[in-house]
Amino acid sequence: MKEERAPWNWPVTATLGLSFLAAITVVPWYGITQGFSGWAWLFFGVFLILNGIGIGSGYHRLWSHRAYRAHPALRLFLAIFGGMALQNSILVWSARHRIHHSDVDDNEKDPYSIGRGFWFAHIGWMLKDYESGEVDFSLVEDLQKDPIVAWQHRWYWTLVLATNVALPMALGWLVGDLWGVFLLAGILRLVVSHHVTFFINSLAHIWGSQPYTDENSARDNWVISLVTYGEGYHNYHHMFQQDYRNGVRWWQFDINKWFIASCAGLGLAQDLKRVPAFRILRARLNMEFKRAHQRLEQASDAKPWREVLESEYAEFMETVRKWQKLQLQKVQQGRKSLAMRLDTRFRELEFSLKMQRKRLALLTAQLSV
Ligand SMILES: [Zn+2]
Ligand SMILES: [Zn+2]
Repeated sequence: MKEERAPWNWPVTATLGLSFLAAITVVPWYGITQGFSGWAWLFFGVFLILNGIGIGSGYHRLWSHRAYRAHPALRLFLAIFGGMALQNSILVWSARHRIHHSDVDDNEKDPYSIGRGFWFAHIGWMLKDYESGEVDFSLVEDLQKDPIVAWQHRWYWTLVLATNVALPMALGWLVGDLWGVFLLAGILRLVVSHHVTFFINSLAHIWGSQPYTDENSARDNWVISLVTYGEGYHNYHHMFQQDYRNGVRWWQFDINKWFIASCAGLGLAQDLKRVPAFRILRARLNMEFKRAHQRLEQASDAKPWREVLESEYAEFMETVRKWQKLQLQKVQQGRKSLAMRLDTRFRELEFSLKMQRKRLALLTAQLSV
């Protein structure tokens, strides 16, 4: 009932509604009657990718989560192309996103809680001024110290108009296809960029797997990752939000992860945060044990398996305990030679978890027959 009382946010509703309407009417009509130049398609693709990187590597991983530090030149680039995606300023976006993480799935607090339905999480939360959407700037005090963030917040609407209207029109005029470039690289690019990002709040909280945690609705989904440059590995992300990677396995498609790592190679990004491999494996195993236990409950002849599973679980807890002890030792003995000796032991513990995952997979397979 709170939702019905919330007043409409007309500027946002009109912008999202009209741009969508233009994208499905004027854009195809112009394409059929006039045709689009190769330039128009090129600028469409380039700006779409740059917006995705501005939001994913900038708004999300750099500013909301502080997953790495960036050179001012890189921050300026991310602030401009993230701003062009028309998803509010870095400050507003990050303040809401931090609540989304701390209170995920809480219908009263999470600004785009999936518990209020697909439409609400996708776009509905922006169309009305809900209490859950109110911005608490005290959550982003650290970001307000960044002059580029403060500049972007102050000049946000100028930046939006310059990048969404002036820039495509100027480029269109230069290549002799003013309206074509404006419609594809301006309007259609904006609408596509909007909805693929919105999928992270809607689809990525409904559709996909939960390899790391089932304590929230976030899912890992490679299809969503393809269109969001890696942001679809959302189950991992909600578990380890401080990691600069979302698609943490080397083969997982995550353009933002590769972009940030390349920037680090060029000296434009530092302090890339990675969650230790052991902690990632531990989270996976935890979930796999949980699932094996659930299967055991349903199995007809569970007794012989219960003992095996329990001894495996005890071994798992013992490995975790050893790792925690080693971690403490590492912090206490900062010396390099010792740290190197510890590294071998860390690797051994990682290996023992990997072996345990294999045994557990075999056990679970037998349980399901
Ligand atoms: Zn989420
Ligand atoms: Zn996040």
